[in-house]
Amino acid sequence: METVKAKRMIYAVQCGQSWFGVTHNVNIYRGCDHGCIYCDSRSSCYRIHQFDRIRVKERADQKIDHELSNKRKTGVIGLGGMNDPYNRFEAKEEYTRRSLMAIDKHRFGVHVITKSDLVTRDIDLFQSIMKHSVVNVGITITTIDDALQQRIERNVSSTSERFAALQKLRQNGIFSGVLMMPLLPFINDTIANVEGIVKRAKDVDACYIYPSFGVTLRDNQRQHFFRLIGPELTERYVKTFGEAYMCQSPQHKTLRAKFEQLCDEAGILYRMADIVEASRAFVQTEQLSLF
Ligand code: SF4
Repeated sequence: METVKAKRMIYAVQCGQSWFGVTHNVNIYRGCDHGCIYCDSRSSCYRIHQFDRIRVKERADQKIDHELSNKRKTGVIGLGGMNDPYNRFEAKEEYTRRSLMAIDKHRFGVHVITKSDLVTRDIDLFQSIMKHSVVNVGITITTIDDALQQRIERNVSSTSERFAALQKLRQNGIFSGVLMMPLLPFINDTIANVEGIVKRAKDVDACYIYPSFGVTLRDNQRQHFFRLIGPELTERYVKTFGEAYMCQSPQHKTLRAKFEQLCDEAGILYRMADIVEASRAFVQTEQLSLF
C-alpha cells in the first residue's frame, strides 16, 4: 500500500489525560475512507491532503516499537484519534496488530476507537495487554438504525455488526463500550435513537456509553457535511448555528437527561472519570493471576 514519511509516531497528549486516561497518541495511518459525512479529521486545520486516500506511515510498527523502547515511564496509547486503525487495508497489512504487539511488549496500555468489527481479530492481544495495563476499546455507534447508518457512515461495519463486535469483546473479558457521538442535529438526535442505543448496549453488556449531544463543524469539514446532507438540512443548520463550531442538538438537555436516566437504570457508566477508573480496575496484574 502507499506509504508516507513520518518523523515520529508517538506524541504525548496535551489534554492532561482527560480523554479516557490516554497519555500518548499514535496514528498509524493517514486518511480514512469509512465515509462518515461528519468526519472532523478532514478539517483544514489538520492539513491532511486527500483525506479519503489511506496511506500508512513508513515502518509505522517498527518506529512505534523503537520509540516505546526509549520511554522511561509507561502510559496509555490512544489509537484512532485521527483515523480508524481498522481500515480496509488493515485486515491484510496488520500494521495496527503489530503496533499492539509492540505496545504489549513495552508494557503500555491502549485505548482504541473504531467503527470496524475487525477489532475483534485482536482480542488475543487485548487479553495479553490487560495482564499488565489498561485496555479500553470504544466502538462508535451514532444510530440504532442500520439504514440511516449506511447513509452517514457508508463504508464501514453496520450498527448491528458493531454491537456484535462489542458483545464479542465483552464475552472475552475486554473493557469496552460505546462512543455515542456525534448526535447530529435534525438527523439522529432523537429520544428513540438514544433509547435504542442504551438498550442494545445493555443487551451486549457494554461497560459504558460516552455521549456527545451535537457535532462540531470546522472549515472544510462543514462544507463537506453540507454537500452530503443536501440543501434543506443545510439551510436548517445555517439558520440554527450560523458559523458556530459547536452545533448542539436543540434538544440536548432533554436528550442528556433521558440518556443519564436510562444509563443509571441499566447500570452503564457514562462519566469520563468513572469510565477511566473502571478501566483501571480491569487490569489483571500478573501478581493477582498467580493466585
Ligand atoms: S471512521 Fe473516523 S476518521 Fe474515518 S471517516 Fe469516520 S469519523 Fe473520519
